[in-house]
Amino acid sequence: MSTQTTQLEPQDREQAQEIPSEVDPNSETIAAIATPPGVGGVGIVRISGPEAFAIGRALFRRSGTVDGAPFEPVSHLLTHGFVIDPATGERVDEVLAAFMRAPRTYTREDVLEFQAHGGPLILRRILALALANGARAAHPGEMTLRAFLNGRLDLAQAEAVMALISAESEAGRRLALRQLQGELSTRVQQARTAAMGALARIEASIDFPDEEVPPPDPAELAMLIAEAQAEVARLLAGADRGRILREGLRVAIVGRPNVGKSSLLNALLRTERAIVTPIAGTTRDTVEERASIGGIPVHLVDTAGLTPSDDPIERIGVARSRAAARSADLLLFVLDGSEPLNDLDTAAAQELHALNTDEPENETVRDSSTSALPLMLLVLNKADLPAVTGEQEAQALWPGAQVVHSSTLSADGVAALEQAITALVLGGEAQSGDTLVASARHADALRRAAEHLTAAQATLTGDLPLDFVSIDLRAALETLGEITGETATGDLLDRIFSEFCIGK
Ligand code: GDP
Repeated sequence: MSTQTTQLEPQDREQAQEIPSEVDPNSETIAAIATPPGVGGVGIVRISGPEAFAIGRALFRRSGTVDGAPFEPVSHLLTHGFVIDPATGERVDEVLAAFMRAPRTYTREDVLEFQAHGGPLILRRILALALANGARAAHPGEMTLRAFLNGRLDLAQAEAVMALISAESEAGRRLALRQLQGELSTRVQQARTAAMGALARIEASIDFPDEEVPPPDPAELAMLIAEAQAEVARLLAGADRGRILREGLRVAIVGRPNVGKSSLLNALLRTERAIVTPIAGTTRDTVEERASIGGIPVHLVDTAGLTPSDDPIERIGVARSRAAARSADLLLFVLDGSEPLNDLDTAAAQELHALNTDEPENETVRDSSTSALPLMLLVLNKADLPAVTGEQEAQALWPGAQVVHSSTLSADGVAALEQAITALVLGGEAQSGDTLVASARHADALRRAAEHLTAAQATLTGDLPLDFVSIDLRAALETLGEITGETATGDLLDRIFSEFCIGK
């Protein structure tokens, strides 16, 4: 029976010996139910802080011992026994107790976990006993906040804990684990080290102008700043695919009526969510569904149609469809391969081209700075029928787009399409081994850092006093420090940790 704490331990074990623990002996001891609400096989109450062991001794009776017998817990060993109410001596539940001495714990403080039977009443009673005996109720994310404050995790790693817990896909889980293991933090630190090197050279010459410190060589400064810029740019390049793996790929299914858009949505979902009828134009509104394709979370939107209409209800549908198409990462432009292309196909293509160039009206727009997407796949549907429209004719509508054949009548019929979608998203990851940046907060900080570094280079080549370069460099360092937490403000920490669950 392993707990979240022990899972995170192996990589921590060696570090724990090297890094001296800065545990604050005056900090409060906190307690929370660490398992989800409801009934389960096992439920865990976690207590962390300087009083954890004392509270444990008061509440825990090792099996085979009598009341009042001295008990010295062995760290990191499960002990069988009972939680008792020290006021009455009553047994509350039969438990396994894990006493864990700082600093080899999740919070780097003394931690005690009671693994009890997973009933809400039992867990609430054990928690109440911990609170009555010197602990206070933990705030959401407070255990992880302490891990961060005690130097066990940096901020990006702490956020990865949350991402890992809430991962909805295999790809998202892998990504979060890589971040938890410090991959992103290491890359950010590399950028910081380069920028810091440039700053240190400038400051040495400013602080000690009369001494033997030669003025920094501008070429060397430029090189160090360029190194930081390259690292930030590499991280930013992975930001878009990272977001997709974490939040899901937004796919809009577009095309004229009756080509099989709703059928395609259903085939990809393998359910019957959208109503499929042989009458053209019956899907009046957008239909959005979530699916997982090859381990990638996908938000599928079936659009009603993009062609302007006089019918007020259809007009709403058209507006929503256009917004969906515009905010999508990937467009599936569906064509009926069993019929010749007609004016409505051409009109749909024109509408799509217009979306790319149009200024959006009042519709929700994707943040244009996030990527070069949407990507386009031409889907020649009804491939089970004799082919009338070929790949070249399809490509005439959207030159350069990849063409995929599909048939929604069988599961096999959409396999090629599913493969094409996965290849588009994951192909890049496999090739480059990039560090993917999943969080919008991180991507935003990286973008701002890139701007400060560009400004630093410009100031340097502009022959302005080196003081000005150091201002830009400081700003870049501060911004990068927001990712790993060195320069995170209290507000930012509050915001991040309040999104955690209680007990984590
Ligand atoms: P939409 O208007 O583009 O959403 O199209 P629908 O999904 O409502 O499908 C229109 C018609 O085409 C329906 O009668 C479907 O059964 C039929 N259809 C859809 N996909 C296929 C396919 O792959 N092969 C064949 N033979 N018929 C299909």
